[in-house]
Amino acid sequence: MVVAPRPPAPPTLPERLATLVTLAGQLCLDLVIEVRRQPGAALTWAIRYDAPGAPPPAEQRGRFDSLGTALDAVTVAGALHGLHQRALRAPAYLVIPDGPPSPPTTDDLDVQRLEKRIRTYDEPAVRGAQAIWRDGRWWHTKLRLSGPSGSDAGRCVRDREPPEPSWQGPSIPYVDCPDCATTSSNGLPPRCRTCRGARRSYLGTVVTITDLDGQVMHLNWLADPDRPLRLSPVALQPDGTPVVALPSHYRLAHWAHILGVRPEHLTELGTSAPVDPGSRDGLIPLADATDDPLTLHLSRLSAGRPAARLLVRSPLPDAPTLAELIRLVHGLGLALAVTVEVDQRRDGFSLRTRGEGWQVDVLRVDQADRFAPQRPYHPSLASAVAACYAYLELAIASTVPTDPRQPIPVPQSSATSIAPDDPEGMIRQLGRRHPGQPVTAILTPTGCHVHT
Ligand SMILES: [Zn+2]
Repeated sequence: MVVAPRPPAPPTLPERLATLVTLAGQLCLDLVIEVRRQPGAALTWAIRYDAPGAPPPAEQRGRFDSLGTALDAVTVAGALHGLHQRALRAPAYLVIPDGPPSPPTTDDLDVQRLEKRIRTYDEPAVRGAQAIWRDGRWWHTKLRLSGPSGSDAGRCVRDREPPEPSWQGPSIPYVDCPDCATTSSNGLPPRCRTCRGARRSYLGTVVTITDLDGQVMHLNWLADPDRPLRLSPVALQPDGTPVVALPSHYRLAHWAHILGVRPEHLTELGTSAPVDPGSRDGLIPLADATDDPLTLHLSRLSAGRPAARLLVRSPLPDAPTLAELIRLVHGLGLALAVTVEVDQRRDGFSLRTRGEGWQVDVLRVDQADRFAPQRPYHPSLASAVAACYAYLELAIASTVPTDPRQPIPVPQSSATSIAPDDPEGMIRQLGRRHPGQPVTAILTPTGCHVHT
């Protein structure tokens, strides 16, 4: 048996609500709690993120009979789901927060009181009600059916709108979508590939990058078609179209590197789809040399997105460094075997036929003498450490002694570790003395020895 830390208690309803409203403030979105009267008079609840100015959806697909059950079930991903469609035509503004969002108070998170307050509108003529978290407080409104005329005839509309959010900057300029204007006279074309249904082509976008764990960055990007960027082609497409590379500031890959994550691991909030490589790397095919590549880039980034905003999730760094892993493993009273093969022959690799191979294994201290190095296959130490860390639980389980008289490793916060200051450098040096041959450094809590 391995002593594992006690799992944390599940969050309470106020804690769940606190998580949702805090993230709304950080992302500069509304959190909307809605109760809607369904045919047959049943009341259903829904919780979702929205962009200010987006109309209430025609139908609410909530399936919860109380705010408590809705809060108990909703996740951040669930509340973001569908944001692209809901806020496709919401007005688009730059995002300029003047400081961190105000945290909710205990009163703001009183779930029973909030539910009671929203249900105050439980009267026959009203279709429902909303509480909207914006700028650090709740705003309340009824929902009614609009009159029989006008563009929103027969739709569910709010009685009143909350004030504009404090983070709202200037509106993002746009032109009418040229393709919608020519293809549709009595409504929308089935699927406009240029604007993806927004009917506008924006000259800017707001890119929000978050790890959903407190780190949020808002980037306001604007193009000026009157002052186009003039860039030299970096490549040609097969048909001869030149391709230009935008300055690094406008590439998501650049920001991923700054955040210490791999660009290909960026995904869109709300859809979880990977960010497309063209947007990521800022490579723009320029069919007409007079076009502004930045305008093309930003109209593509904003098309089909909520309020012309690209919301991106960056993953949390998923592996410790080798030194951190050594401390962790030594704290468990176990040993770590780090194998390197320098100048490894790599038959079958088209780009590199020789390189480094790495492997990291967890083992019991008394197994250290019998450890037989395998041919290491990870192309970098980082990927070997990440793989070891990802399967650490299994590795620890496999080190549990079969002899019941042997002691079980338990975490030792006071355990001493004599790990070297630069374990990677030291192990690579050892590998260089034996090129083309696996070399293993076994790091136990009390010493280090080498196998070849
Ligand atoms: Zn269009």
